[in-house]
Amino acid sequence: MKFNTKVIHAGVKPDPQTGSVMTPIYQTSTYAQTEPGVHQGYEYARTQNPTRDVLQTNLAALESGKFGICYASGLAAMDAIIKTMNPGDEVLSTNDLYGGSYRLLRAVYEKFGIKSRFVNLSDGDLNKHLSKETKLIWIETPTNPMLNVVDIAAVCAQAKEKNIKVCVDNTFASPYLQRPLELGADMVLHSATKYLGGHSDVILGAVVCNDQELADQLAFIQNATGAVPGPQDCFLILRGIKTLHLRVERACKNARKIAKFLQSHPKVSSVNYPGFKDHPSHKIAKAQMEDFGAMVSFDLTDDSFESAKKVLSGTKLFLLAESLGGVESLIGHPASMTHASIPKKERLEVGLTDSLIRLSIGIEDVDDLIEDLETALRNI
Ligand SMILES: *Cc1c(COP(=O)(O)O)cnc(C)c1O
Repeated sequence: MKFNTKVIHAGVKPDPQTGSVMTPIYQTSTYAQTEPGVHQGYEYARTQNPTRDVLQTNLAALESGKFGICYASGLAAMDAIIKTMNPGDEVLSTNDLYGGSYRLLRAVYEKFGIKSRFVNLSDGDLNKHLSKETKLIWIETPTNPMLNVVDIAAVCAQAKEKNIKVCVDNTFASPYLQRPLELGADMVLHSATKYLGGHSDVILGAVVCNDQELADQLAFIQNATGAVPGPQDCFLILRGIKTLHLRVERACKNARKIAKFLQSHPKVSSVNYPGFKDHPSHKIAKAQMEDFGAMVSFDLTDDSFESAKKVLSGTKLFLLAESLGGVESLIGHPASMTHASIPKKERLEVGLTDSLIRLSIGIEDVDDLIEDLETALRNI
């Protein structure tokens, strides 16, 4: 099955009892047994739920993996991965990442003895950063919000030599644009809240992997610690995925035009978009991604927070909100919103200034979106 067919059909079959074309929402906490221990494979809904099973199978197929394990949120999925580690182990992560992922590693797991280091992996040279304790490499690519691109295959090849696991947070790209397992990663993480759901109406997370032992561990943690998604949330993600390819394709097309518009605007000093030929990781992006994504960030010639605020509150179609990947365009201020939990000094080191503005470009008419930005930029 090709990708555009998988989004609609992989793991999804009409309900055997009724023929219902859409996967039913099995809104139940428990399942009847005919005698103790005799049941149809379902005992209790924290452990198994048929709606969740369909989503897990579908997600595994989209990421070219064998196993999908879903959690209550993207961070709950990451939490499950970190729980496979032991005190003394170290996570080596990209230094330009989702603020909540940074917070989980630093503010939750450090006190349990799992250490984290945050480095720039965009040069593809992993060896200089590794320590004896490194057990997991955490990659976000394209990075959030600077849109740097990490060479997944290069990092995975070096990690494999040392028996270190690699997880790629594929939230920004979506499996339509990039499939890390095909490039050698051990795990893929999704905040399905974003592109997979695509309609800004649900929170859910997932991990996909190929290794049976790892999948068993992750499923054990899913059940044993209980951060499971509800069946209605699973349904909403399944429903969103059916148009993933169309939405992402259109959003990427819009992003290309908007990035060009911003680049030529006198009040904009820089635009971060891997689709530009002179972007430092354009070549890698072109090789490992189907298109360049629909996230764009930019800085202002007048780089004060005051000017940024005028733009941020001046758009009408671009809604000022956290999150990304929905059908509607969003505008955000990473320094005070998604990345507020990262200390200012560390933020500035990666170029995340107080005036940096991030766009999640949706699937509206691109001319309306450009006009909206043009009007807001007139405010400064
Ligand atoms: C939103 C996000 C997360 C966290 O996901 P939730 O579903 O909000 O818990 C993790 N990584 C990235 C890149 C994100 O954008």
